[in-house]
Amino acid sequence: MPLRSDWSSATCPIAHAADALADPWILLILRELFSGHARFDALRTATGIAESVLARRLRLMTEQRLVERADGEGYRLTDQGIATLPVLHAYARFSRVVDPDGPWGLTVTCRRCGDEVVSADWCATCARPIDIETTVWRRRSMGGSFALAERAALR
Ligand SMILES: [Zn+2]
Repeated sequence: MPLRSDWSSATCPIAHAADALADPWILLILRELFSGHARFDALRTATGIAESVLARRLRLMTEQRLVERADGEGYRLTDQGIATLPVLHAYARFSRVVDPDGPWGLTVTCRRCGDEVVSADWCATCARPIDIETTVWRRRSMGGSFALAERAALR
């Protein structure tokens, strides 16, 4: 018996995306790939995930074309994986909306102007979209800020 419903052929785009992305471990693995952790052991350490669970999720993410294996270098985000960036930003935004004073350790800023970004994919100051090239994350757990374009595990 499958663990959950299969929405991979859903015509609702939210249900279709949920089929690929609505798994907490997959979201955290994506966060770490954007942060530059590409190797299996680095992903395991950064997320605290069990080895078997990580292996299963990476296999699933490869089948869904979110990541691809890079021989000797671990895993890399594909174009489809990179397209999940606004999804991660929407999760971060949701946490800030429901608990504005929470202990949030990740901040999204615009690389062009340096202002904090509150939308999932738009810098209000620049009045332009933000994407992998123009996003800077400040992660307390990683000791500071970094431009995703310079750090992310990309193909
Ligand atoms: Zn900006």
